[in-house]
Parts: sequence; structure tokens; C-alpha cells
Amino acid sequence: MINWYPLLAVLAVSLTCAYLRTSLRAWTIAGFVAIAAVAWLAGTGWLALILTAALFAAITLPLNLPDFRRQKITAPLLKIYQKITPQLSDTERVALEAGTVGFEGELFSGKPDWKQLLRQPAAQLTIEEQAFLDGPCEELCHMINDWEITHERADLPPELWEFLKKNRFFGMIIPKEYGGLQFSALANSAVLQKISTLSATVCSTVGVPNSLGPAELLLHYGTKEQKEYYLPRLADGREIPCFALTGPYAGSDATSIPDYGIVAKGEYGGGNVLGVRLTFDKRYITLAPVATVIGLAFRLFDPDKLLSDVEDRGITLALLPRDTRGLEIGRRHMPLNIPFQNGPLHGKDVFVPLSQLIGGPDMAGHGWRMLVECLSVGRAITLPSNTTGGAKAGALATGAYSRLRKQFGMAIGRFEGVEEALARIGGYTYAMSALSLATASAVDRGEKPSVPSAIAKYHCTEMACQVAKDVIDIHGGKGVQLGPKNYAGRGWQSAPIAVTVEGANIMTRSLMIFGQGAIRCHPYVLKEMQATQISDYASRLRAFDRVLFQHVGFAISNAARSFVLGLSLARLGRVPGDKYTKRFYRKLNRYAAALALVADTSMLTLGGKLKFKERLSARLGDVLSHLYIGSAMLKRYEDQGRPLADQPLLAWAFHDCAYKMQTALDGVLRNFPVRPIAWLLRVLVFPLGLREVPPSDRLGHRVSAILCAPNEARDRLGLWTYLTPSANNPIGRMNAILADVIAAEPVERKLQKALKAEAAKPLDFTEQLAAAEAQGAISTEERKLLERVRAATFEFISVDDFDPRELEAAVIKTKPSLRSVA
Ligand SMILES: Cc1cc2nc3c(=O)[nH]c(=O)nc-3n(C[C@H](O)[C@H](O)[C@H](O)COP(=O)(O)OP(=O)(O)OC[C@H]3O[C@@H](n4cnc5c(N)ncnc54)[C@H](O)[C@@H]3O)c2cc1C
Repeated sequence: MINWYPLLAVLAVSLTCAYLRTSLRAWTIAGFVAIAAVAWLAGTGWLALILTAALFAAITLPLNLPDFRRQKITAPLLKIYQKITPQLSDTERVALEAGTVGFEGELFSGKPDWKQLLRQPAAQLTIEEQAFLDGPCEELCHMINDWEITHERADLPPELWEFLKKNRFFGMIIPKEYGGLQFSALANSAVLQKISTLSATVCSTVGVPNSLGPAELLLHYGTKEQKEYYLPRLADGREIPCFALTGPYAGSDATSIPDYGIVAKGEYGGGNVLGVRLTFDKRYITLAPVATVIGLAFRLFDPDKLLSDVEDRGITLALLPRDTRGLEIGRRHMPLNIPFQNGPLHGKDVFVPLSQLIGGPDMAGHGWRMLVECLSVGRAITLPSNTTGGAKAGALATGAYSRLRKQFGMAIGRFEGVEEALARIGGYTYAMSALSLATASAVDRGEKPSVPSAIAKYHCTEMACQVAKDVIDIHGGKGVQLGPKNYAGRGWQSAPIAVTVEGANIMTRSLMIFGQGAIRCHPYVLKEMQATQISDYASRLRAFDRVLFQHVGFAISNAARSFVLGLSLARLGRVPGDKYTKRFYRKLNRYAAALALVADTSMLTLGGKLKFKERLSARLGDVLSHLYIGSAMLKRYEDQGRPLADQPLLAWAFHDCAYKMQTALDGVLRNFPVRPIAWLLRVLVFPLGLREVPPSDRLGHRVSAILCAPNEARDRLGLWTYLTPSANNPIGRMNAILADVIAAEPVERKLQKALKAEAAKPLDFTEQLAAAEAQGAISTEERKLLERVRAATFEFISVDDFDPRELEAAVIKTKPSLRSVA
């Protein structure tokens, strides 16, 4: 009979070494020690020992002989690798090289170093930033009348424009030396979140100049003269910027812009100077209708070789003052009733001197790199902040409304169906807050978070759509009837706009998150690609060999970790956190290992084809995204001092994340084209099957309870929301009355009981109160409380109605002839 002990010992040692990620040498030594130990302890048969030792030596020894390994193993693999690896286009290479890698790299490593995350300092506003939030930003919010903006003017009123300019809201990212506010990304985010409590239109108007556009581009690439001229003017609003890239024929595929500029001489400022003759057709450009300086992207050609020997210089960026001759600008689009200024612009043979190229002639042809390098910073802040602010306001408003709106004799927030939607609002808002905080903090640490910014943009805007829908659902007719009293409708209308801009979501999910993540964040893929680019063969082989075998060890380790952690249902391993959160860290460890394994296997088996398997790539991106969101939530929880009261929110959002990671991985395995590999992966990833479940109803109940009553977790969730109970802020006023609504509930029960005992019940509420008070069923104080709550409730459940003429479009009002046609 064969004696299996030596083989089993070697397998156990190999699994342990792989799990612990030891070096090749340590594994080799440990394997031989295990064989020797079995021989000594078990006195096992010599034949089994010799066979096992020979097999183990045959595998490990060639790997430990560098020259042999390079010539006999690595060289043929290098040949295959070069054949199957897709060639990166210049555009892709620029995109990949643009960003930095932060904690997302750890997540992709399959064994995240949590200390790295938890060591990062907690994000905090400076005293000056907080003062701005409590001062000018508060004042701005006080002035906003969103109905006037969205319905009556389709624009901000002049005094609001003035206020924004005077208080340098458009100069948050501009350094003080140029007259800007020089705010951190966190402060920028806080300001946008506060404004979005009231108005998506004002929020977009403030967000865009502080995002990718002339100011950011000038800061990084502008010439000294350009910076000194434009930055002070942008900071104080003398110049309103816009940035024009998109056109009718180039949307998502932005590098294909047909807009062009020809290097030529032309008349400018009374002289004949060298410049560019531009022809362009752009659309969807935010702030274009009111912009005074336009950042324009176009392809530069130099057919007469006036600049250099290169005729096609590539994408280039220029600044066009509004009064540039031939520039057609001023018409408007109407993005889903959220009338921030947005419109087309055109020009044919518009001449600008070379000094108007951003960065001057030296930066001609570098436009795409400039855009991509700057994109991640704006994308990490503007849309995640706008949507997070909106979700926070929606969560507080809907929680309060669910408590004061009664049907079937009780607050609607007590119905289980409503609880389900409330829990989703609470959980998603918690996740969005953590995610937007994580990306803003990354920017403040000096990172250019290209992958996290895509994750934040995609997931914040998608969750915002669901939150906006749930908010409307819970408000019923109150959410649907537009008017000054409606604080939910415009949020619902604006949600899809955020989905479309800054990289439309389907493309962001299918192509960018995993596509960039796999190469940028993977510890070895980019290094392998770079190694294959080395021109000297010997150096190339040596570099490729080193990275390849690190990669192989990494893949084996991830397979072992995924299997072991799956088998133990993520109960193993040293992790940080408290008693409550340790299991969450372990789950992230498990899915990080699974992602690394499945991603590697997908890249190895599908090679270049993976790029076109968008549905697989999207699902792998979902896993990476939820790993990032999960760790952002744990970091936030730690930074806030592990607040007990927040645990239901954290747990709901975390279980949702874990369930979505499982669903995404299951989707990859179900649809993986090479079936035997999918079967093997399923054993390694889900050895005990699909065990994650969505957040439970009980947890959902606890989350909805947080939203429906004043408490510290709710306050923390609503951080940076504008809650002053001013006339223009129904959310603030409703929030302010919430404590009274709750205090009135037992009194209402007493009233109902008293009324039941009455033979003839008075119908009028005032009479009912008087009767109950006369009976002594309620006190005078209690009567007053009920009156107060009744009046407030009436205000908040009321909707607007209009004279038909008020709803007619302005054009019909001013041209009565159109009225009869209508
Ligand atoms: C309100 C608003 C404001 C804007 N502001 C500006 C601005 O200030 N400056 C500016 O330059 N641009 C601006 N844009 C343009 C915006 O960035 C583009 O709308 C966006 O890039 C998408 O282009 P598109 O609308 O032409 O959609 P398309 O490119 O036609 O895409 C249509 C659909 O196809 C999907 N898709 C495309 N390619 C792929 C792919 N490879 N894989 C999977 N799916 C894919 C997209 O995700 C989308 O769902 C704005 C747009 C809007 C609506």
C-alpha cells in the first residue's frame, strides 16, 4: 500500500507557505524539512519518501537555479507573453501612466496591509475652511431659492452670481497667491455637499470651475504670463470658465474629436503673428453660455511645419476669450430641468495666437496627457460630493417625513415596505459619504487617484439614482408635484445627469474601473509590460523573469488564500478593528484574494480578449469597487472613534457590499468562457457555495429607525447638510420639528383614546383637542404641542398648485398668438 504521509506533509507545508506568502527559497526549505520530519517521526516507507522528495526537488530546484530558469522556462514564456499581450494604444498608455496608486493597490494585492489604510491621518477641515462653511457658504444657502432658479429664471439670479464671485466660490482650488481660497479637496467637497442640500443647479455651477477646466490646467501647465493674467481673474469671478472637449461626433470616445487647428499666421492685436486657425463644433459644455474664457480641445496640425517637422501634433488645448472673432457662443441646452448653464459652441477658422495655447507652444500636442492627468482630481471630488450631499439631504428629509406623515393610523416609516426603502437610503448614504471622503482625502494626500475617482464617480452617481428614487417613492404624491414646496423632485431629475457626465457610467464600469485597475493596481502586470519594452534582450529577460516569478508566487498564494479563507468563511487571519468590525476586515481579505485570483486567471486565459469582454470586466470592477467602498467605510468608522450608534449603518452598508462582491464573482464564474477553468475557480473562490446574504430585515429596521428620529448617528450621517430652518429650506424646518413630532406621538394616542370614549366625536381637530383637554385626557401643554405639530405637518404634506398661466412657458406668455395655437 502507498504511504501518503510525505506527500500530504509537503502539500500542507506548500498550502501554508502559499497562504503566508513566503519566498520560493523558504518554501523549498520548508518542504524538504517536512519530508525529513515525516521520515523521522512516522518512520515511513523509504520508497514513498524518495518519490516525494524527488518530485518536490523536480519542481523546486529548477526554479531556484536562476540561469537555468531564465533560459529554459522564462525565455519561451516571454515569447508567448509578447504575442498574447495586447499592444496599448498611445491613448491607453497615457491614461495608465497618468494616475498614482494608493490603497486600491493593496486591495488588488489579495492581502491588504490594513495598517497602511489606518495610518492615514483622519481628514479634517482647517479653522479657515470651517469658517467659510459656517459663513459665506451658510449665507449662500440662505439666499438660494431653487424654484426661482429652476422654474422661473432657468438661471441663478444676478445677486447669487455676484455673491458667488465676490466670495470666491469659483476660486476654491486656486492658490492664495493668485487670490483664490486654496482650499483642500475636503473643504471643496464640504462646500459642494452643503449647497446640494438645496440646489443641484447652484452646486454644478460652483463645482465645474473648481473641477477639470482652465484653472486646474493653468495651475499645472500654464505659462507664467497665463497664470498671472488668468488665475486672479478666475478666482474673483471676473472670468467665468468652461472647458470644451465633447462634440456631436466625439462623446465617450473623446480622443476622436474632429475639431482641428492649423498652425498659420494671422492678424492679432494689430500685428501679423504665428497662431492657430481653429474649426470646432462642441456641445454639452457646462457654463459655456455665460463663459468669458473657453478652454478648447482640438487636434493640432502643422502642414507647413512652422512649429516643427511633425505635421500631426495631436490633441492640444487653447484658451479663447469670449470676444474672439468668429466664436459662436451663447445658446443653451436644457439638462433635465436642472438649468445650470450648459450649451454648444462653434467656430470656423477662428484665429488665436500661439500664446493662447495652454502652456504655450511647448505644450502643443500634449493635450490628452494634460487632461487625463488632471481628470482624476476633479472626478474624485465634484460628482461624488454633489451626489453625497443630495443623498444626505434626502436621507434626513425622508426620515423626518416618514415620521410625520401618517396613513392607516400610523407613521408611514413604521410600515415594513417603507422601512426597506429607508434602510437602502441610509445604507447607501453611509457608503457614499465614506467613498467621497476617501477620494477627497486621497487628493489631499497628493495622490492622483485615477482608479478610485472612477469608482467614486460611478458608484456615488448610481447609488444617488437609487436614493433619489426611494426618496420619491416614500414621499408619494408629495415628491411628484413640483413647486417651491417640493424638495425631492429636482434631485430625482438631476440624478441621471451625473450618470452621464465625466465618463458615462456604462463605459466607466465596463471599461475603466477594472481595465485601469487591473493594470495600474496589480502589483506585477504593469511591471511585466514595462519589462517587455526593454530593448536589450538579456536585461529584458532578467527583468521579466524576476517579475514573472513574483507574479506566479502571488497567483499561487491568492489561490491558497482564497480557498482557505472561503473554507473558513473568512474567520481566519490577524486583522485590525474592534469586536464588531474584525469580521468585516476578514471578509475584505477573503474577497481581495478572490479578486486577485480571478483577475489573474482571466488575464492569463483571455489575454487581450478580456478588453472586449466588457461584462466580465465590469463585474471584476464591481468587486474592486466594493472592496474599496468597504475599506473606506471601515476607515471612516475608525476615524470617527468607532461610534456604537453608527454600527447598524455600517453593518447594513457592509453586508450590501459583501453580497454584491459575491454576486459579481458568481457572475464572472457563470459566464467565464473557458468552462473547466471556471469550475476550478469556483472551488477555490466558493468552496462552501454562495453564503453571503443581503442585509437582513432586522438590520434594515434599525437603520430606518436611525433616520426617523433625532440621534447622534443621524447627525453624523447628515454632516455638512444645510439644516438651518430658514424660509427657503423645508428640509431644515422639517428636521427642526422632528423632536416635537416624536414627543406628540404618545399624546396623539391619548387623544385617540379619549375620542373613542366620546359618544359623539367632534369632527374638527381643534374641537377634538378642546374636548380632550376639557375631559382632562391631555394637558394644555400637550394640546399646544399637538396644535404645533398639526400645523407643521400640514405645511410639510402640502403641495403647490398653480394658475394655468403660471405654468406656461415664457415664450407663450410673451407671444399670445402662440397661445391660441397651443
Ligand atoms: C449636462 C452635461 C454637461 C456636460 N458638460 C461637459 C463639459 O463641460 N465639457 C465637455 O467637454 N463635455 C461635457 N459633457 C459631455 C459628457 O462628458 C459626455 O456626455 C459624455 O462623455 C458621454 O458622451 P455622449 O453623451 O456623447 O455619449 P456616447 O459617447 O454617445 O455614449 C452613449 C452610451 O454608450 C456608452 N459607451 C460608449 N462607449 C462605450 C464603451 N466603450 N463601452 C461601454 N459603453 C460605452 C456610454 O456609457 C453611454 O451610455 C457634458 C454632458 C452633459 C450631458
